[in-house]
Amino acid sequence: MLDKGKQALGSLLFFLKNPYVLGIVAIVFIITVTVINVVVIMGGTLQSESSDEDVENLYTVCTNGELNKEKFYAMFESAGAFTKKGDEFIAVSKKVSIDPVLLASIAFNETGSGTSKMVKERNNPGGLYDSVNKTFFTYPSLSDGLYSMAKNLFKNYISIGLVSIEQIGSKYAPLGVANDPNNLNANWVPNVSSFANKFGGLTMNCESANLGSGNFVNPVPNPTITSSYGYRIDPITGAQSEYHKGTDFACKNGDPIYASASGTVHTAIYEGWGGGYGHYVMLQHGDKYTLYGHMRTPVVKIGDKVKQGQKIGECGTTGSSTGYHLHFEIQLSPMGERVDPMKFLNKK
Ligand SMILES: [Zn+2]
Repeated sequence: MLDKGKQALGSLLFFLKNPYVLGIVAIVFIITVTVINVVVIMGGTLQSESSDEDVENLYTVCTNGELNKEKFYAMFESAGAFTKKGDEFIAVSKKVSIDPVLLASIAFNETGSGTSKMVKERNNPGGLYDSVNKTFFTYPSLSDGLYSMAKNLFKNYISIGLVSIEQIGSKYAPLGVANDPNNLNANWVPNVSSFANKFGGLTMNCESANLGSGNFVNPVPNPTITSSYGYRIDPITGAQSEYHKGTDFACKNGDPIYASASGTVHTAIYEGWGGGYGHYVMLQHGDKYTLYGHMRTPVVKIGDKVKQGQKIGECGTTGSSTGYHLHFEIQLSPMGERVDPMKFLNKK
């Protein structure tokens, strides 16, 4: 064993003393270092690209009336059952008076860009269910399936004032519902928004689609209101008619607290009394602000861009609080006029 070891060491020394071999070793070393550098640089680039997209998702491009034909048709170059079907999306949307970009964004999101069985085998891009025959509808052509999907979108959403992607998402893929324990619905609005941007931007209802237009979703999973906005008896002092500036939701220690709408972190307090709010977060959404009080801890920092449904903190009982709960406010200016959050939450 020892002899063999000595032999191996001897061979190694021989190789290293040989200038030719040493040259090769040096070249291999240089190549290795270069490859590692390139990988590190590429990793960095990829990371910044994905965070750019995250920010972009917050602000759906909206160009009233103007379909970006180049971007729109480019998406149909290779898209499973939707390949080269851009004109069908436009024709169907015209018939129903809806935005072709909105219809396409939702259809692409629901079908994995035209590749799902539902669209390939049933021509049913909207996943529409026939409750009489207890099965999904099968349509004779993609055009027929698209037309049904578009009519459904108009009837159940657009016609009742749910026009932006966030507003549609609040009914289509609501947060904190029992059939979505992993909070997958939180991805619906960002994913559909991302498609809308790739299609060149929404072409209708731009005013309502702007950030901060008034669509807010539940800030906790399985929301139970324990105290409403308005005048009440103070649970601590017992005094009557204390004005409660927000809505209290039951939550357990450490439960996730979600951003009620996409926006920017205006305030994040991680310690102390916080003026009674304890550890809290305030988000800005265009012309409105939401506040999340009594957190165990915020998990965002001032200036962060957050998406609707993104976790921004954990349930706690800090500040002026008698037990674990979320105190949620909607404000018209920072710490200024408060409004009843329930008039805005999941508005239908
Ligand atoms: Zn409260």
